[in-house]
Amino acid sequence: MNFDLDAIFIEDQCRSSALAARVIEKIPPHVPVRYVADGREAAMPQTGARDPFGAGKRRMVVMNRKSPFLMACPAGSAEFACCGYLVLTLASNCPMDCSYCFLQEYLADNPGFQVYANYAGAMDELDRLAKRAPGRQLRVGTGELADSLAFDRITGISRELVEFFAARDGLTLELKTKTAEIDNLLEVDPKGHTIVSWTLSPEAVFLSSEHRTASPSARIKSARRVLDAGYRAGFHLDPIIAYPGAGRDYGELLDELFDSVAPDRIAFFSMGTMRMTPTLRTAARERFPSDPMLLGEEVLSPDGRFRAFAPMRIALYREIADRIKASAPKAPMYLCMEQPGVHRKVLGAEPPPVAALGDRLARG
Ligand code: SF4
Repeated sequence: MNFDLDAIFIEDQCRSSALAARVIEKIPPHVPVRYVADGREAAMPQTGARDPFGAGKRRMVVMNRKSPFLMACPAGSAEFACCGYLVLTLASNCPMDCSYCFLQEYLADNPGFQVYANYAGAMDELDRLAKRAPGRQLRVGTGELADSLAFDRITGISRELVEFFAARDGLTLELKTKTAEIDNLLEVDPKGHTIVSWTLSPEAVFLSSEHRTASPSARIKSARRVLDAGYRAGFHLDPIIAYPGAGRDYGELLDELFDSVAPDRIAFFSMGTMRMTPTLRTAARERFPSDPMLLGEEVLSPDGRFRAFAPMRIALYREIADRIKASAPKAPMYLCMEQPGVHRKVLGAEPPPVAALGDRLARG
């Protein structure tokens, strides 16, 4: 996959880091490299840029992370039935550009594509946490503020991560992606401790809204290859968009998936319909004014996000869930950022407690 970079910025204190050396070796020769005292300044929106967020995606900043690497999933709250996920932030922002991406709001003041050279500190944090939670299976993902594998060809971080998790029984890594960047993964043995998950959308959503991502077919083919290499694979149908013909399109997408991947090898499905705060919706519509997927009828939910009208969401969830159950009856399925009542109507049961669901997904 070829992403455009306008420039690489390397923080002075990372000049001699292994990550900076790998990046400089792998980037195309036409991309200029600049050294800066503070990476945070290079990551700020550039004044005068027509689309500061889009421009930030093309500025890679190699810097040290000053905050902790590990945190609870920002989607989690007492209101929602969540999966007890922990987020490991090894990068911030993403070279792809999905019109609905929440990073357009979350990183509006900080859009540079940052990768953290001191990522060994993340592994120390994980070891400390695992020591404090003996007997628990912790599921840790790197795909929240960035795509887990975008630019892995350049940074090569996935190999070290997979090897780190392979040596620790209580930890499961989830690498979440919309790419087909799996070459590094195929060279290491995950020993069952890494799940690679793909967000899947129908072709219509890919074409209108998921710019510079791998096609849905390429994602499915990549899933098949990592499964054959000993990884576990999961799938996020998120955001599900309630456009005319969506039920049919999601059905066809699942048909293609089940034709390629044996249903009993799928670690989980997550589902979540499109949700946007008013600020995100405004930003997304400004950046992608001709995207029909951003123009559906929505209502403001109690959590302050626009979503499709609940009966419409529930009907679409059910249609998709029934299709999954028909082919993959044993695959765990959960909803992301939905209230327990919706969970019950779609999946027929109250969501399990957070820790139990997280544990189940981690153990497979
Ligand atoms: S791939 Fe994920 S992180 Fe990247 S732009 Fe799309 S939604 Fe955002």
